[in-house]
Amino acid sequence: TKKADLGPLVGAVDQGTSSTRFLVFNSKTAELLSHHQVEIKQEFPREGWVEQDPKEILQSVYECIEKTCEKLGQLNIDISNIKAIGVSNQRETTVVWDKLTGEPLYNAVVWLDLRTQSTVENLSKRIPGNNNFVKSKTGLPLSTYFSAVKLRWLLDNVRKVQKAVEENRALFGTIDSWLIWSLTGGVNGGVHCTDVTNASRTMLFNIHSLEWDKELCEFFGIPMEILPNVRSSSEIYGLMKAGALEGVPISGCLGDQSAALVGQMCFQDGQAKNTYGTGCFLLCNTGHKCVFSEHGLLTTVAYKLGRDKPVYYALEGSVAIAGAVIRWLRDNLGIIKTSEEIEKLAKEVGTSYGCYFVPAFSGLYAPYWEPSARGIICGLTQFTNKCHIAFAALEAVCFQTREILDAMNRDCGIPLSHLQVDGGMTSNKILMQLQADILYIPVVKPSMPETTALGAAMAAGAAEGVGVWSLEPEDLSAVTMERFEPQINAEESEIRYSTWKKAVMKSMGWVT
Ligand code: ADP
Repeated sequence: TKKADLGPLVGAVDQGTSSTRFLVFNSKTAELLSHHQVEIKQEFPREGWVEQDPKEILQSVYECIEKTCEKLGQLNIDISNIKAIGVSNQRETTVVWDKLTGEPLYNAVVWLDLRTQSTVENLSKRIPGNNNFVKSKTGLPLSTYFSAVKLRWLLDNVRKVQKAVEENRALFGTIDSWLIWSLTGGVNGGVHCTDVTNASRTMLFNIHSLEWDKELCEFFGIPMEILPNVRSSSEIYGLMKAGALEGVPISGCLGDQSAALVGQMCFQDGQAKNTYGTGCFLLCNTGHKCVFSEHGLLTTVAYKLGRDKPVYYALEGSVAIAGAVIRWLRDNLGIIKTSEEIEKLAKEVGTSYGCYFVPAFSGLYAPYWEPSARGIICGLTQFTNKCHIAFAALEAVCFQTREILDAMNRDCGIPLSHLQVDGGMTSNKILMQLQADILYIPVVKPSMPETTALGAAMAAGAAEGVGVWSLEPEDLSAVTMERFEPQINAEESEIRYSTWKKAVMKSMGWVT
């Protein structure tokens, strides 16, 4: 049979903390044609440590590409129509590898990892000049979250990394760099690059000049020769060197939260989205201005869609633990077998019955930035059962979002009238309704929830030399939305929220 001709297609790698996906879109209609997903293992070798295997991540990408191509074949869709590939990735997660062997020199240190707490304390004692030295250049607070301190730890503690640096064999990268280097040939001419959005999460990147910052590299003691080249988020970096899509250009690269902002078409100043994955990330486009928060938010690079295109910035509220609390209930407590089951448990009771769950497993990120916090479940009585705890876990995700939305509204001045959402957790209808009730504004979800991948595909398809995707708004309309309207009254919602804040106070100061 003749293979269906749909015009140019674009693929996207979505390498998240929980899983890897490859998705293929029609560049004219933005329709998702096929995809494949593989869950990624997380290792917790010590309390507070979170690692992943960079080779497993790479392998999962190849597997997802091959399986998606097979599925397209079954749909009679010709894979030679795939004209470009975009990469979006979990941000900050740090890899160092050997450029001569292609072997990682240590596991990937995941963004959630807390091993660098003492590294951070030591560094904060010797910040030069005023306390704003790091923040004014990077938009970020000095925290375990960002790559520079993870890389510092690897340089201090892993002999193989030290030796490779001495012998000029080491390359550093976040997951985007590791993947692009490997996919474009690795030891045989792989391209060592990153994009401005991923670079802006390393804490080594000056978000004003859009270059690696010499003073920051000196402060963190990072040799600049191991850093990748920084490119825009939409340009041809190199060609796929192997597999079913050999020869296809990789021409889009965005950190996952930036990709979701693009995929949700938040191109205007003041437009925002919240993504519910492992963590929860609310980003608001602030246009060409770097806005600095007074309320615990980060300033970050939103995107730069082409070498000669202007840079856009965003204010970001980052919550470390959202979907991860559901995974914890599944893997550590075993009260559910799949993440979807949480909805059934929560529905049985429809309330937490006074139980509050603060999942501060990795300390608290925005707006508190409190590394001493640890998770607590409180307000328990003889009556409490696993359904109430399940409900409290979902409520926790909504309360955390409320806290960052409040901070965002204070920093931006104009309160958001509705919240655009996406991410793996948004398939949970109870969560979405609860979120509308707790924010007291409508929550709006696109019917095609894979906005992170869509954003990476858009960047790849629009790149100079590819040109199969137009970023003009009229091409991107016709997105159908699901809306959740607030149903409980504001007063009831306020009471619950203030009790939540009391619980948050109790979670702090556990680690000294
Ligand atoms: P990431 O991009 O961080 O890899 P995803 O967007 O793929 O994350 O979302 C996966 C997360 O969402 C997991 O932590 C999982 O536990 C959670 N999740 C998935 N489905 C549901 C659901 N129906 N209800 C609640 N949480 C869910």
